[in-house]
Amino acid sequence: MELLLKGGRIIDPVSGRDESLDLYIRDGRIEKLASSVSAPSAVQVVDLKGKIVAPGFIDMHVHLREPGFEHKETILTGCTAAAAGGFTAVCCMPNTNPAIDDESVIKFIQNKARLALNGLVEVYPVAAVTVGRKGEHLAPLAELATAGAVAFTDDGDPVSEGEMMRRALEYGAMFNKPIIQHAQDTSLTKGGVMNEGFASTELGLAGIPGVAEEVMVARDIKIAEFTDAQYHVAHVSTAGTVALVHEAKVKGLKVSCEVTPHHFTLTHDAVRSYDTNTKMNPPLRSQEDVEAIRVGLREGTIDVIATDHAPHSFDEKQVEFQAAPFGIVGLETAIGLCVTRLVRTGDLTLYQLVE
Ligand SMILES: [Zn+2]
Ligand SMILES: [Zn+2]
Repeated sequence: MELLLKGGRIIDPVSGRDESLDLYIRDGRIEKLASSVSAPSAVQVVDLKGKIVAPGFIDMHVHLREPGFEHKETILTGCTAAAAGGFTAVCCMPNTNPAIDDESVIKFIQNKARLALNGLVEVYPVAAVTVGRKGEHLAPLAELATAGAVAFTDDGDPVSEGEMMRRALEYGAMFNKPIIQHAQDTSLTKGGVMNEGFASTELGLAGIPGVAEEVMVARDIKIAEFTDAQYHVAHVSTAGTVALVHEAKVKGLKVSCEVTPHHFTLTHDAVRSYDTNTKMNPPLRSQEDVEAIRVGLREGTIDVIATDHAPHSFDEKQVEFQAAPFGIVGLETAIGLCVTRLVRTGDLTLYQLVE
């Protein structure tokens, strides 16, 4: 199969390229990249003037729901959504049933991903830190790393115990894998369904205070410093967390973080609609938090944009706000939101966004 992409703006941060070029592809490989490539016969030519050509994007935080919750999403439907959104690689989270806490589950996911869309979207499993994500016993991290786990997390829930986080970071460092934290002190979030603030007071809904995230991040950064290990904060949602990560980076610690499109585009005022698609964890925060996150993106404190794509079935979300599960889809809308809300606003250049 041969393909000639004419005149697209090629943005490739790995090679530092940002220019309009012709791209000639044969049998899935880039054969030629030049200002003008003439088409050999029988080649499919696509005019891409005014369009962007970038490497496939990677989403490091996706819930594929399989095994166990196939009524919400499967590896096939998740990979299809990823491909539609421009993502050719996703890291899938371990809050499946069974959890990704055993080599056999990793093999199952890898095999399914290879069959889905002929492997068009690569799936990198992120394994659980603890057995069954219960927070009681450390999962077999060495076995999981050998089987192909690219990182460890109990996402959906935090690693609550400080001792457990310490051991996870120590073992993670042995295999050069980061520990990803869904940062939340759950004793501060009991019963909460949205951000604690003016909107939650007006709506009469129980709040999840920003400090619940910040105390966990502050503790974890201390443990990451103590263990000299790689720590990653999932879905940063507050100004305070951005400040903590900034401080850790200034100190030279191996701390990184990600933000989701919904946390830099929407505030807790969106919950006034009672639309259960505005219910996610961590919740939509205040305008000040959104502003701080945008600054964090501009200044490089925030390393990654990830979707936290977390689908549910239609009927699960068609209930009262309090009863609805946390989470929304994100793979198909992420790039559009990023271009509209970060590039057109001047927060990031297109090149920075692709990067
Ligand atoms: Zn999470
Ligand atoms: Zn998640």
